[in-house]
Amino acid sequence: MKKSAVIGFPISHSLSPILHNFLLKKYQIDGSYEAIPINPENLELEFDYLILKADYQGLNVTIPFKEDIFRLFKERGYQITPKALSVQAINTIYKENDQIIGSNSDIYGFEQNLLINSQNKLKNGSALLIGAGGAASAALFSLSSMFDNIYIMNRTRKKAENLAKSQKSAAKIQIIDDLPLEIAQKLDLIVNSTSIGMKNNDFEHSFDLNQVNNDCFVYDLVYNPLYTELLKKAQETGKPVITGIGMLIYQAFEGFEKWFGVKPNLNPDEIQHLTDLLISQIK
Ligand code: NAP
Repeated sequence: MKKSAVIGFPISHSLSPILHNFLLKKYQIDGSYEAIPINPENLELEFDYLILKADYQGLNVTIPFKEDIFRLFKERGYQITPKALSVQAINTIYKENDQIIGSNSDIYGFEQNLLINSQNKLKNGSALLIGAGGAASAALFSLSSMFDNIYIMNRTRKKAENLAKSQKSAAKIQIIDDLPLEIAQKLDLIVNSTSIGMKNNDFEHSFDLNQVNNDCFVYDLVYNPLYTELLKKAQETGKPVITGIGMLIYQAFEGFEKWFGVKPNLNPDEIQHLTDLLISQIK
């Protein structure tokens, strides 16, 4: 039986086992996928056990280990895909031709969710990216090939500057501390990649969404709750919104294909069914 798992700490909240077990059942594959909590002090030891001894096909890596695993791969000279190298984080590990490979499927997940839900309407134009952490890095990689102008706004300006410098981009990237009217009015997309809006997080966004044109898409990577305050406000003013759950779903596909040998291909009804299943499990 082929085995995979997601490692993180804490990990009990992870929806990935439900997602992968849904896919295993759909494709009638004799495989398993579980959530394994790892104490950060034991990360290297546990990684070696799972990948080298316990014969896992591979792993997903989540908070707080994506950057640690990237560093471990660098130290050991394991293969890292170009996308993971660009964002300096690994969330998917698999084996190919006796090689251990680290990749980053958050970029694909972010992009696929955006393209499908915006019906490919977003080309060139201007995007505002709020945040400068790991999720922002994956988002920036993708936005760079879709937009001419990208504005990054983050609580800690320095991190936004570092993020902008960390990737090669054909887009013009500017760091902003607030959202002036002249920028607000030309935005085609706003992406929240911070933890603002998460359940039990009382912080609020500092900009005024009313200044933004009503045809601007608002995409929140937070999916617990599915409709964050930002998305609710956007809906009130008639703006099209994109929830973060699709990113979680689409980022899972690369690992699933590498470990279990089937490329998931879900129709819109199946995506909706899987979304409902995942949402029902959010605590
Ligand atoms: P991270 O690397 O820790 O980055 C956190 C970001 O949030 C930083 O930009 C941080 O700003 C900002 N932030 C945190 N608290 C804030 C506050 N009170 N006020 C203003 N800014 C605040 O985390 P991450 O991995 O990027 O994840 C960020 C969010 O994206 C999480 O909610 C996560 O659930 C979501 N996410 C979703 C998916 C998906 O599949 N949908 C995938 C990955 C992540 P500073 O730089 O100033 O600290």
